[in-house]
Amino acid sequence: MEKIKKINQMTLERANVEAENAQLRASVASTEEEKNNLKKRCDELTQMQSTAVTEKSQLEEKMLLSARQAQSQSQSQFTLNGTVSEDVKLLLQQNALLKSQLTCHICNDREKNCILTRCMHMFCRTCIEGNLSIRKRNCPACNDRYSATDVKDVWLTG
Ligand SMILES: [Zn+2]
Ligand SMILES: [Zn+2]
Repeated sequence: MEKIKKINQMTLERANVEAENAQLRASVASTEEEKNNLKKRCDELTQMQSTAVTEKSQLEEKMLLSARQAQSQSQSQFTLNGTVSEDVKLLLQQNALLKSQLTCHICNDREKNCILTRCMHMFCRTCIEGNLSIRKRNCPACNDRYSATDVKDVWLTG
């Protein structure tokens, strides 16, 4: 009787251990599954990262390209089919006119920076002083006489 009771108890214990074993196995399986899921997610993230890196370099390339296009556009803005556009022609003419008005007409090189207060014609001081030094005291534009005291500085810029 006592022996049977012991066997029954052992059987029960064995069943318990087996149940526990099954539980452990299940939990190991679920851990394994979790691990697989995490690995999958990790792979996905790595993939996403490499995609993002590719996209980034593509965008950078695009930016570089559009910057280059903008540059070449601004360069070709002045010319249309190799010819200078009318607007630019006009601006170049005006620019040349203004430049010549601001340039000394004796040397055609330096900026006008002095005025003969008798006739109010303007030249560069280097030319006028050169003329004074060789006693040439007639205005190169209107031939009016002037002396050193008639030469005054002017400032075309503020
Ligand atoms: Zn000059
Ligand atoms: Zn003059």
